[in-house]
Amino acid sequence: MIRVNENYAKLQSSYLFSEISKRVQAYQSANPDKRMIRLGIGDVTEPLPPACIEALHKAVDDMAARSSFRGYGPEQGYDFLRSAIALNDYKARGAEIDADEIFVSDGSKCDTANIQELFADKLTIAIPDPVYPVYVDTNVMAGRAGRHVQGRYKGLVYLDSTEANGFVPDLPESPVDLIYLCFPNNPTGATATRAQLAAWVAYAKANRALILFDAAYEAFIRDPALPRSIYEIEGARDVAIEFRSFSKTAGFTGTRCAFTVVPKSLMAWNKKGEAVPLHPMWNRRHTTKFNGVSYPVQRAAEAVYSAAGKQQVKALSDFYLGNAALIRTTLADLGYSMTGGENSPYIWVNVSKDSWVFFDRLLKLAQVVTTPGAGFGRCGRGFIRISAFNSRENVEEAMLRLRKTMRA
Ligand code: PLP
Repeated sequence: MIRVNENYAKLQSSYLFSEISKRVQAYQSANPDKRMIRLGIGDVTEPLPPACIEALHKAVDDMAARSSFRGYGPEQGYDFLRSAIALNDYKARGAEIDADEIFVSDGSKCDTANIQELFADKLTIAIPDPVYPVYVDTNVMAGRAGRHVQGRYKGLVYLDSTEANGFVPDLPESPVDLIYLCFPNNPTGATATRAQLAAWVAYAKANRALILFDAAYEAFIRDPALPRSIYEIEGARDVAIEFRSFSKTAGFTGTRCAFTVVPKSLMAWNKKGEAVPLHPMWNRRHTTKFNGVSYPVQRAAEAVYSAAGKQQVKALSDFYLGNAALIRTTLADLGYSMTGGENSPYIWVNVSKDSWVFFDRLLKLAQVVTTPGAGFGRCGRGFIRISAFNSRENVEEAMLRLRKTMRA
């Protein structure tokens, strides 16, 4: 008899975005003349940078000639891309990461989801609240969480991110084995300082724990004092895996390219207490279950690191940060407190009431769609996430509507 993985039954339905779309649709069908502005989703709106388009076209032409055609490439990614990443994202910032420690993939969602396969069934896992839901759900699927009670799974250690700690969680009070961190954060937009990351690295070292550091939004960091990579922190090579994506950096959400860094010095332990390097394990997993990102897409990603590409990619994130600044100014004028939006495309607004109630108010009074914070975890109740991913015209119009209707 074929049996199912009963852990799936513990998963909460992906209530957040389906509930948002249900409410938006209901309002829209009752008010067909109203134009909605969606500042809820985390998808980009601007097209790919010209340097990437040019590289894509050229790579497509390569595929058309026998002499330059490429079939299966190396599963870990072509060396031209891995070397460009190592040089520009790491060595240029003083982080010692080699090209062969970089695994190119088709997305950070898959990588942050799949990485937990490398670890034992029974682990104490620390997960921030609020959080990108993939970290929690994939551990639930793998059987590492208990029942869901009042918005939280039994057996997981939740790290509260609140106004009191500046949305950077404090170190756990009891020992944990695996720690998920994401900076700049989705959904709060908060960033972590060098000292804060150094404290986590020291914690991981002292507890033989491992940090999974999701840096999907690093391209939005403008404050030069903030680290863009955990490997800018001394000792992080021995305790952290980092995830990066071209999705938000260069508008690749529909093109798909990302990478994961597993340093060769990174160890976990077997039940005898012997150190086991994770690099060969992830290499084995990647080469067994993944057949590489397409050649044209890797060429497009490589173009992000060309002189023109760097400029264009910066202009893209500058554009979204310009939207974020408009959103911040408007909300501050209206009397709201918030975090994010300065080194991040997300603004996390304290609405001092149930986030769904506020969501409905915004929808009905201003026809602006946001994301209720409660959907990202218990600590998100009382907050909404506003995304800066939209056209300038839409953001300006949305802010005008807010000014007319939403005084705090
Ligand atoms: N990590 C975080 C924190 C995200 O917000 C997202 C996407 O929204 C991802 C990872 C997924 O990125 P990708 O498009 O590379 O799968």
